[in-house]
Amino acid sequence: MFSNRFEYFAPKSLEEALALLATYQDDAKLLAGGQSLLSLMKLRLANPRVLIDLGRIADLDYLRADGDKLNIGALATYAQIKESELLQNKCPLLPKTASVVGDAQVRNRGTLGGSLAHADPHGDMPAAALALEAELKAVGPKGARWIRAEDFFVGIFSTVLAPDEILTEIRVPASDNTRSVYLKAARRPSDFAMVGVALRLKLGPEQTCEQITIGVTGVTDKPYRGAAVEKALRGQKLNAKTIEEAAALITDGVDVAEDLHASKKFRSHLARLYTGRAIRAAM
Ligand SMILES: Cc1cc2nc3c(=O)[nH]c(=O)nc-3n(C[C@H](O)[C@H](O)[C@H](O)COP(=O)(O)OP(=O)(O)OC[C@H]3O[C@@H](n4cnc5c(N)ncnc54)[C@H](O)[C@@H]3O)c2cc1C
Repeated sequence: MFSNRFEYFAPKSLEEALALLATYQDDAKLLAGGQSLLSLMKLRLANPRVLIDLGRIADLDYLRADGDKLNIGALATYAQIKESELLQNKCPLLPKTASVVGDAQVRNRGTLGGSLAHADPHGDMPAAALALEAELKAVGPKGARWIRAEDFFVGIFSTVLAPDEILTEIRVPASDNTRSVYLKAARRPSDFAMVGVALRLKLGPEQTCEQITIGVTGVTDKPYRGAAVEKALRGQKLNAKTIEEAAALITDGVDVAEDLHASKKFRSHLARLYTGRAIRAAM
């Protein structure tokens, strides 16, 4: 099916894009890699009157080190993230996660900013952003603000971004001896996650858990931090018993989703299983 008719703009600067967004407001949609939005438009589930293509704004496409942080432009694609030596050395969780998103075509076009702003409850990158305690820069008519990944996702396909704001940058910590892993349970390799667990772990002497951060996707209406597991493990010696007991807390306080891919019971089981596996893999 073809999409409904729309007007198309390709601004060359962020200022121009913000001005277009202010002019057309709810009639407009931002276009990044188009890997979610164009499908929705062809299915006529999204019918924007105006498309503002961010793709020609060179200032949004970069990967940079800045002291103990790494700054990633919202337009960086999964493929760029996967191939980046800087990220492989300083933040391997992002390339590891990007490498299991969709297929090569999706990874060549889809962007980190688009993935986070789209907030698909089964998306992979939101889990990594949570485990990395990423900070997200939103720019709007009133200026810029930084949002913690933990505060960014509100619910299904919904974030705290205002309609007149553009997500411009994602800031993550450069490696500080943490180990990281992303494990995804999907029916086929290019599918969305039934459950995805991203994890960063810092070990102390005798396998003691000094620091752990966990991001979970696919389980409920939004990606979330595995805070109960983190709390249970911090300061503990990691062994089969402590890992098993803590992993059982991964769905604590979470309304586990049920759909055609997995019942509540099976998805809860997967979440527990993949959390335990992710901890052991990181060790
Ligand atoms: C066949 C297929 C398989 C896929 N498999 C996976 C998978 O396994 N895992 C996974 O996580 N995803 C998967 N995806 C989705 C893919 O990751 C999308 O690329 C991603 O969800 C959206 O990124 P995008 O750059 O394409 O954004 P777009 O589709 O261009 O935009 C998505 C939404 O975000 C908004 N937006 C985009 N950029 C910004 C910005 N900078 N600021 C504010 N709002 C913005 C748009 O207005 C739109 O509402 C798949 C997609 C396809 C087609």
